[in-house]
Amino acid sequence: METSNFIKTIMENDIKNKKHDEIITRFPPEPNAYLHIGHARAIITNFESAKAFGGYTNLRFDDTNPAKEDAEFVEAIKEDLKWLGYTPKNVFYGSDYFEKTFEKAILLIKKGLAYVCDLSQEEMSKYRGTLNEPGINSPYRDRSVEENLDLFMKMREGVFPDGSKTLRAKIDMASPNINLRDPALYRIMHINHHRTGNAWCIYPMYDFAHPLQDSFEGITHSLCSLEYDNHRPLYDWVINNCEVDSIPHQYEFGRLNITNTIMSKRYLKMLVDSKKVKGYDDPRMPTLVGLRRRGYTPDSIKNFILETGLSRINSTVNSEMLDHFLREDLKLKATRPMAVINPLKVTITNYPSDQIEYLEVLNNVENEELGTRKIAFSNELYIDRDDFILEKPNKHWKRLAKDVEVRLFGAYFIKCNDVVYDENGNIIELLCTYDVNTKSGSGFNERKPNGTIHYVEAKTAQKALFLQFEPLILDNNDEELSFLERVNPNSYKETYGYVEESLKDAKPNDKFQFLRTGYYQTDYDSKPGSLIFNCITALKSSVK
Ligand code: ATP
Ligand code: MG
Repeated sequence: METSNFIKTIMENDIKNKKHDEIITRFPPEPNAYLHIGHARAIITNFESAKAFGGYTNLRFDDTNPAKEDAEFVEAIKEDLKWLGYTPKNVFYGSDYFEKTFEKAILLIKKGLAYVCDLSQEEMSKYRGTLNEPGINSPYRDRSVEENLDLFMKMREGVFPDGSKTLRAKIDMASPNINLRDPALYRIMHINHHRTGNAWCIYPMYDFAHPLQDSFEGITHSLCSLEYDNHRPLYDWVINNCEVDSIPHQYEFGRLNITNTIMSKRYLKMLVDSKKVKGYDDPRMPTLVGLRRRGYTPDSIKNFILETGLSRINSTVNSEMLDHFLREDLKLKATRPMAVINPLKVTITNYPSDQIEYLEVLNNVENEELGTRKIAFSNELYIDRDDFILEKPNKHWKRLAKDVEVRLFGAYFIKCNDVVYDENGNIIELLCTYDVNTKSGSGFNERKPNGTIHYVEAKTAQKALFLQFEPLILDNNDEELSFLERVNPNSYKETYGYVEESLKDAKPNDKFQFLRTGYYQTDYDSKPGSLIFNCITALKSSVK
């Protein structure tokens, strides 16, 4: 299924040219949030490309910034990977390497390539210069190796307060690449780390820690998204100067964006904190926990990622694409029970009122392997309001109308003879007759019905709550509108209706195609007696 991509081409050449014997990649999330479908691109790219060459992938928690990280996210990320079907060869933590990373910092100091700087954060950014102007050397740049070693040791021992000193690489304050203007390698943070506790009060910066971690693990291809492009020279500087045993290379790919949603952790957090959504696993969220709760399958996500390809430009993909792969995945796998979301009562006036019969139907008319089940039929039924119109407007109306006959799926032809109104003039009931000779499967062919519609028998029907979703973010180019103002106020709709009796014990995560209605999954909060179904997507794309 997977299409080729530029990363695999690079790997293929590296194997061919004997640059590497084995391909080793890693997925390095920072455990500071829930993963979203953009991360799925990084996960799938790392795992699938290594696998294609018989190599492997590590999961590495990039936990070098204790201020933002939490063990809750570590567990959630492991669970997400498992759900997507990927097992990392090893699970490592950036904090596993704090001692080794510290030793490399000492090495750089000894080589005259790093120094302790007393500039404040503010001063440092002033000294850094701009895109058009070179930076200015720090007054602390020429400290002796001995002084730097002494100060750095004291930083580690906790002698200095937060923010009072940093360890910086000595590279080039005039470099056109601002990342090379003596970047910070270590900062002081007296803060408890979720794994190392209070063992450390200095923590390495991402740009220093990451290449070293890659090297310690023997990573060959360090894949990341495009925004790290201009960090690559610093990545290579660290690798070239730290006397490492194994040389990794960084390659960047474009970030994945999806229409009518948001991929940034900051904004996802805003949605949760402002209670615009019910949590990270709200079925409208692009998080993997949200998509999972809604009913998207791992295969639909995998195929979506692989088929949308990979390039060195950021891309925005229509959310309809994901729905397409969901339908493809479930079309033959899911059973097709009947649900009436917008019920309209039907009374069959010529059917005995004390009788219920059961009719055998296929669970999925396109896949007989899914077997059959029994559906009920009696004198009281529900059909969907959308399947009835008082007067048949034209020949394209292939549903019920007054004086018109349709087939009820798996059952009989019914004809609507009269309607009942409430005091406001709304139709609340249809009075119909059925024809006993038209039983489904009986071979009856004397006349054709005006289409087939679905129904639920009323006495055995199970009341259910249906949750329907619209895109979370309105595509609005109005620059004036803040992010929170672009949240779609109609993105969540609750409707009570009925499902057939066979769904009485539907379990959370069970997926269905409700006949003629859409793809649904039983919600986590659903229980027998109070069923809840999430609409994953409509039966057909609305995009023409
Ligand atoms: P932060 O803003 O906290 O750095 P991040 O989105 O970069 O967040 P990380 O936890 O650092 O999240 O991401 C882990 C990996 O997933 C990184 O290699 C990152 O490049 C990749 N990644 C994140 N978002 C996307 C995306 N939308 N498309 C492709 N890759 C992504
Ligand atoms: Mg990141």
